[in-house]
Amino acid sequence: MVVLALMALFLVWVVVGVGIWVEVKITNWKRLAEIKSVDAASYRTFKNFVNDIESKTNWNVKIISGLRTKERQKELMRENAKNASVEKSRHVMGRAIDINLYQKNWLSRIWLKKFNSTRDWRNTGVVKISEKYGLLWGGNYRSYHDPVHFEIR
Ligand SMILES: [Zn+2]
Repeated sequence: MVVLALMALFLVWVVVGVGIWVEVKITNWKRLAEIKSVDAASYRTFKNFVNDIESKTNWNVKIISGLRTKERQKELMRENAKNASVEKSRHVMGRAIDINLYQKNWLSRIWLKKFNSTRDWRNTGVVKISEKYGLLWGGNYRSYHDPVHFEIR
């Protein structure tokens, strides 16, 4: 009985230990590679921005959107009129990224997404870092809540 209990305990210890040790990164660098193909300077800025977030805050980055085709942007505008037009969207030019932030929490993750408040986003320190790069932040838009959006002016 005691042996079984010890074995069970050992198993739990191993599972939890591995869970803490292995941190699967889901940054999605592919999105930045697409930007590189149209604007190398933007690519460098965003790459440094993401690396800064991951090294200077306790948040990790998942890039959820980068370069968009004109067709995709038109679709987005049809879905939500507040989305930028093709002429205005920096995504089409390869000068904007949308990101989500996450933290490891035991075996799951805590997320920061579009529906989170601008205050939550500010508290991460990410907005401060974006200012260092002179980026425009979607959390500052007056008529549209878009805290996941960062663009090169
Ligand atoms: Zn965006």
